[in-house]
Amino acid sequence: MTRSVTILGATGSVGEQTLDLIKREPEAWQVEALTANCSAPELAQMAKDCGAKLAVVGDESCLPPLREALAGTDIETAGGQAALIEAAQRPVDMTVAAIVGCAGLAPVMAAVERGGSLALANKEALVSAGEILMSAAAKHGATLLPTDSEHNAIFQCLAGNDIDEVRSITLTASGGPLRTWSTEQLAEATPAEAVAHPNWSMGAKISVDSATMFNKGLELIEAYYLFPVGLDKIRIVVHPQSVIHSMVEYRDGSTLAQLGPSDMRVPIASCLAYPARMETPMAPLDLAAIGTLSFEAPDEERFPATRLARQAAAAGGAMPATLNAANEVAVEAFLDGQIGFSRISAIVEEIMASCDHAAPLTSLEDVLALDAEMRARTRALVEI
Ligand code: NDP
Repeated sequence: MTRSVTILGATGSVGEQTLDLIKREPEAWQVEALTANCSAPELAQMAKDCGAKLAVVGDESCLPPLREALAGTDIETAGGQAALIEAAQRPVDMTVAAIVGCAGLAPVMAAVERGGSLALANKEALVSAGEILMSAAAKHGATLLPTDSEHNAIFQCLAGNDIDEVRSITLTASGGPLRTWSTEQLAEATPAEAVAHPNWSMGAKISVDSATMFNKGLELIEAYYLFPVGLDKIRIVVHPQSVIHSMVEYRDGSTLAQLGPSDMRVPIASCLAYPARMETPMAPLDLAAIGTLSFEAPDEERFPATRLARQAAAAGGAMPATLNAANEVAVEAFLDGQIGFSRISAIVEEIMASCDHAAPLTSLEDVLALDAEMRARTRALVEI
């Protein structure tokens, strides 16, 4: 049976890996829509390769090159924020949410409000609007399938079990490329060094997040919303080999873990085929060749991000969205060479301390307004 799929953020790392899987089973999938921000030639090529019906760029100024690249085909084109939302609203069997950043929130919300199944990689959307997204998913009967490898692992370890029986959830963290660096070395880390992840191949933003440990911080908040066991039951352990993707411990002392290669196609496939399974091209896991799996406690002195994320989740309200907005702007500034590596967490902490929003965020508009305000505040701090 053919299933229809839309990929939001198709030109990114997760988007490309999703398309790689889909192209291996062309008879099983009909691609409805593919979106990008401004990578028009790449998007056009992908749309042609997989026979998509619609290609959308979020940045309207990139629509003319998209139209030009798709001239003479019957693939529809569109541009701008409203077009992204319209693409997310089209009825499909599966939406893959792989836009990076809070920019993906409105399209994710549009897909959730339509109901149906959503493979959610776009963690910043969930961090910024956790309660709103989760209650919208419940209200509209949407199935949220966690695509982040850790959350996908937890989702698999929870299957068939009662969440009330969970004693703890442990998120594993590779520790990133700078795991063993001293505080002094971290202050001098360059963008090239920060994005050189030892295990995973990912987009630039999440690669920097992995180096600062904000990725694990965002994941802690993501897990808090996805798996309602309580913040005190969610732990983090550094596991440099990235073989165990996360674990769930039950009250009888049994711990279930999900293992696999460090390749996003495994969790993506688990979402695409859910609740069944599909083939992936990865070699079988060879534990004898890997030899050693090691674990260590996170060092929150050198990497304060997980401490800040725990504070943000505990505070709730506007704080998780504030942390996310400040981090997005600080990462961009670091990648542009405007600030040093260690300034990222310092800036996030400063913006969180300045967050004076006592009122809870109750709508998408509230979150987007707060996100814009905190971005402006962070930009002002970066430019000092
Ligand atoms: P990339 O940077 O590789 O790709 C991001 C995608 O989003 C691109 O298609 C990009 O389009 C699009 N995009 C960027 N900004 C906007 C915008 N303002 N409006 C609309 N579209 C936009 O990111 P990744 O694939 O690495 O990550 C995507 C999400 O998945 C992130 O939330 C990340 O945290 C999460 N994730 C990623 C993993 C990975 O292995 N990469 C693992 C787990 C989670 P364009 O090409 O035009 O810029």
